[in-house]
Amino acid sequence: MECTVVGGGVQALSTGVLLESLGHSTTMISDEFAYIDGSDDPPVATDYAAASVYPVQVESEYSEDELIRRAESTFEPFWESDGVPVRKHTHYYLYENAGDRHLPDRMGAQPVSQYDGEVPTRAGETVEGGYVCEEYFVEMPEYVPQLYHTYRELGGDIERRTVTATEVDNLAGIVFNCTGYGSRELFDDDSLRAMKGHILQVPYEDGPLPFSYTYTPSGYDDEYAYMYPRRETVLFGGSYLPGDIVDGQWVGESPDDPMTVDGVTIPRRLYDVTADIMSEYTDITPERIDAKYGYRPYRADGMRIERTGDIVHNYGHGGAGVSMSWWSALRAVSYIETVSEDVLPDVAAAVAV
Ligand SMILES: Cc1cc2nc3c(=O)[nH]c(=O)nc-3n(C[C@H](O)[C@H](O)[C@H](O)COP(=O)(O)OP(=O)(O)OC[C@H]3O[C@@H](n4cnc5c(N)ncnc54)[C@H](O)[C@@H]3O)c2cc1C
Repeated sequence: MECTVVGGGVQALSTGVLLESLGHSTTMISDEFAYIDGSDDPPVATDYAAASVYPVQVESEYSEDELIRRAESTFEPFWESDGVPVRKHTHYYLYENAGDRHLPDRMGAQPVSQYDGEVPTRAGETVEGGYVCEEYFVEMPEYVPQLYHTYRELGGDIERRTVTATEVDNLAGIVFNCTGYGSRELFDDDSLRAMKGHILQVPYEDGPLPFSYTYTPSGYDDEYAYMYPRRETVLFGGSYLPGDIVDGQWVGESPDDPMTVDGVTIPRRLYDVTADIMSEYTDITPERIDAKYGYRPYRADGMRIERTGDIVHNYGHGGAGVSMSWWSALRAVSYIETVSEDVLPDVAAAVAV
């Protein structure tokens, strides 16, 4: 079937690869392509994803545990496929404050109170709650270009331009709308917000480290900081600042307790927590940090995967766009043919080649 995919981020690329794998004839139209046009282009959220396979900051009709199961099961074939840069490592989800909390249905999750290994902890502090699990992690600087090249190898066409609202109805075939925050203007969707998030990295030659953490320190208003290990860097972040893009400029909340690194204003806790915990592995000093920020396409009405006429929407994934990408692509494509997770091992094999 003839299809047009609008967008050049992880949703468009996953949807495009899936459509091509199933024998459809597609053209992908986007003004920018994630990583192919560089890795610091704020309107393209995909350039900023860490990316752990764990859905956060996303609204949906499904429970958190259900989203976790779907994200993990759809990424499993990619983790199993040699040549796809998806790893599995230990994740520590920790709180300095004790409290009754739900143990999410993540791979191998066990309460930290039952874990007999060491857990990352700030000097002089004690971890009182949380859990330890395994998690899939995507090496985005390699993975996203691999998706793009797979799409091209499978026969997908590319057009580089902005799509306007007036021409949407005239695009060829079934149109898959994967424009993320761009849907605010393209489809007049004012339930979309641009959640600003920082990505901070320091070089790390002996990477990747075999663990990551999400750490809620006491004394920082119950907000956390996370660390993820990339192949050549230690990456950290954990900011979620609500806002909107108005006339090309982001307008929104500023951090309560700011500090500036690499010319970028960040919440201080991101630096404090990481400098403390990671000092036994590498120097985290302001001078060594490369800082950037992007915007998660958060949709208060829930991520939108639905068909209206000849348009299949697939956008609004907030902080879960990578995690839910294969599941979303399957759901979107199921509006034109019956398809199940069983196709994913073959798709993963194509991405690996
Ligand atoms: C700091 C940060 C950390 C994150 N960490 C994670 C994580 O660990 N795990 C995870 O799962 N997710 C994470 N995310 C979320 C994830 O990045 C997004 O959910 C995901 O990238 C959204 O993908 P998308 O393809 O829908 O949108 P985008 O990547 O924004 O792509 C939209 C595309 O549409 C194009 N476009 C828009 N309008 C038009 C138009 N009119 N015409 C033509 N082209 C258009 C844009 O150029 C762009 O290429 C993080 C996000 C941020 C900011």
